Amino acid sequence: MYDVIIIGSGPSGLTAAIYNTRASLKTLVVAGLKWGGQLMLTTEVENFPGFPEGIQGPDLMANMRKQAEHHGAEIVDMDAVSVDFSKRPFTVKTDEKEYQGKAVIISTGADTKWLGVPGEQEKIGRGISSCAPCDAPFFREKSVIVAGGGDSAMEEAIVLTRFAKEVTIIHRRDVFKASQVMIDKAKANPKIKFILDSTIEEVLGAEKVTGVKLKDNKTGEVKELSTEGLFVAIGHIPNSKVFPGIDVDEKGFIKAHDHFHTNIEGVFVAGDVYDHQYMQAVTAAGFGCAAALEAERWLEAQKV
Ligand code: NDP
Repeated sequence: MYDVIIIGSGPSGLTAAIYNTRASLKTLVVAGLKWGGQLMLTTEVENFPGFPEGIQGPDLMANMRKQAEHHGAEIVDMDAVSVDFSKRPFTVKTDEKEYQGKAVIISTGADTKWLGVPGEQEKIGRGISSCAPCDAPFFREKSVIVAGGGDSAMEEAIVLTRFAKEVTIIHRRDVFKASQVMIDKAKANPKIKFILDSTIEEVLGAEKVTGVKLKDNKTGEVKELSTEGLFVAIGHIPNSKVFPGIDVDEKGFIKAHDHFHTNIEGVFVAGDVYDHQYMQAVTAAGFGCAAALEAERWLEAQKV
């Protein structure tokens, strides 16, 4: 029997584990077959406080894991395949075992929605990114493309103009999904150009990004456009499917009620599976800390 079972092992889950173990709570992290979350896919992280020279994403996650283990967290590198939150203690099952916990923190994150075109996956972190606040400084005086037509695409493009020479937003339709205020801001920026009604069919380049193959959706014409970077901003997919009974919004992000409590008493949420606003490692870590403190207080109150 664990006091807390944390599902997910990105910055929010591992920060929650550090806090809960330091509070002498018996803590299990069901880390996932691919533990560590989105930072495992990045290279240099320059905006996580405490690392003046920056740190590689996988190194940062390895440090967090070590710190959680150092304080006594048990970590299993398995996916949570099902849960039973209908009665307490809660049950979390992996393919190999089932675990019981008095409280649960869900921190399963959200996956970037990628274009799914040839040449994309192998260049993520090598010219392809999904986070302008993280990676824009690597594109100083370069030409970059942003894929997408929502608020994220506009925002990513605006952030990129602080560094890049030129930013081209490529959108598959001729009408944007973004809010008018964001469209106006992007249009007012002289560094931002738009290519509409166009689909990226392939990312070109061997070691790094050199261009994209672009199809005009109206004429069917295919051409190549050179670029040194591609920011994919076409949305996120929250990892919330495995939790029946948990309230989610229309896109599947888990709803947090007062102070990181979900609709099920004793089940808390933290990180990108709930937050689609900031989606930064440091905010996820902060939310993980908050959820851990809330779980701790709730467990304390149960004893009384
Ligand atoms: P959205 O779902 O709002 O937009 C996704 C965009 O990507 C759409 O334009 C969509 O095209 C396009 N798209 C989706 N799939 C593909 C694909 N396979 N190929 C090409 N294009 C594709 O996601 P966002 O991440 O932009 O925003 C998520 C939420 O966060 C929204 O509620 C948004 O308002 C909010 N947000 C707010 C910000 C702010 O206010 N500053 C900043 C960032 C996000 P199509 O239009 O054709 O469907």
